[in-house]
Amino acid sequence: MLTKAPKGTKDVLPGESEKWVYLEGLFRDVCKTFGYNEIRTPVFEHTELFQRGIGETTDVVQKEMYTFEDKGKRSITLKPEGTAPAVRAFIENKLYAGAQPTKLFYVTPCFRYERPQAGRMRAFHQFGIEVFGSDNPSIDAEVIALAMEFFKKVGLQRLSLRINSIGCPKCRKEYNELLMKYLDGKKDSLCETCIDRIDKNPMRVIDCKNDSCKAAISDIPLMLDHICDECSDHFEKVKTYLQSMDVEFEIDPRIVRGLDYYSKTAFEIISEDIGAQSTVCGGGRYDNLVSELGGPDTPAIGFGMGIERLLLTIQNNDIELPVQKGLDIFIVTIGDVAQAESMNILSRLRENGISADKDHLGRSVKAQFKYSDKQNARFTVVLGEDEMKNDAVTLKDMKTSKQFEIKLSKLMEEIKERL
Ligand code: ATP
Ligand code: MG
Repeated sequence: MLTKAPKGTKDVLPGESEKWVYLEGLFRDVCKTFGYNEIRTPVFEHTELFQRGIGETTDVVQKEMYTFEDKGKRSITLKPEGTAPAVRAFIENKLYAGAQPTKLFYVTPCFRYERPQAGRMRAFHQFGIEVFGSDNPSIDAEVIALAMEFFKKVGLQRLSLRINSIGCPKCRKEYNELLMKYLDGKKDSLCETCIDRIDKNPMRVIDCKNDSCKAAISDIPLMLDHICDECSDHFEKVKTYLQSMDVEFEIDPRIVRGLDYYSKTAFEIISEDIGAQSTVCGGGRYDNLVSELGGPDTPAIGFGMGIERLLLTIQNNDIELPVQKGLDIFIVTIGDVAQAESMNILSRLRENGISADKDHLGRSVKAQFKYSDKQNARFTVVLGEDEMKNDAVTLKDMKTSKQFEIKLSKLMEEIKERL
């Protein structure tokens, strides 16, 4: 127990962590070019926020939350997603009082008590964005385009974007009645969760992963065929703007976000090659959530993207991320004088932003070279007393195995030139 991480969690070790840093940087850069600013919210919130913000009928709230009572007897929940906390922060900090829309992005850990499998963890991470204060379809298109632009920058070209409209409270009401009637006739073939959903939130049945439910509802009425004129007009504009931004999409009328607060645009970005857990990014409009949580009437839209699933997709597509694997230079030392001098050289190299290291275990020269190789050093320089006296050291290019005589006093310039 003591030396085993809890089920569904994973350490990100050197070798892998560089990819995380790279992707985080790339995501931040893309968000900035779209005019989004970073928000950081706490790792835990009052449980009630998620119950209201995600919805009582969702899997997340019913089964997956890490909820506990703190020493002050408050019910606290580790955040299972980033939207509800962002909405809470938007209201609490009166961000609505500033110029709108408020365009936010985040990088956050999330916690869900799920059955761990590839691409499904208990502690995982998300990139996300949320926009508050605009109901214009241009924002829907922008949010989707931002995700697609990020994937493009990562090098992922084969992801498929699926969009849908799930209507608004007005058209949903009539549709829900239609669904309830339809589902009442299918009760015998539905799982218990879905039977429970019929009265509470019938549209969520479409999202059920259970095979017998899937088969039973193959001809279920779809929201997209019943949306009102306003929603239809909105959806048409989203499509037009996406086309105008050269973003390819498919229409998938079976995408549901499944909450009363969600409305109009819903979308998913799917990777066909990471197995069952294929949704890398999911998002949609939630025009009624801010007011539902006690804020002023504020339309909003956002997405969440699973970083672990993103990394799986990157791996399965054989994409090499441009991360630096090792050191710029390793100093091999011979003798005590060289040892002392190497500490000075290291300082100067590092000051100049050149990554550098030396042996710290008193290894033989041969072992130092071996270690340098393991550190993936780009260059190795050999420092001995004689070499130092003559201001002539050997620089070895570890990629080509070529060696050069250089002046020790010019080491910095030489390295900078060759890197
Ligand atoms: P799924 O249908 O796969 O359970 P979801 O609808 O619960 O996904 P969202 O709440 O929309 O997922 O979260 C957004 C993204 O976060 C997902 O598309 C996925 O990439 C990622 N994600 C969700 N749950 C997990 C998890 N347990 N482990 C790793 N990534 C996850
Ligand atoms: Mg889930």
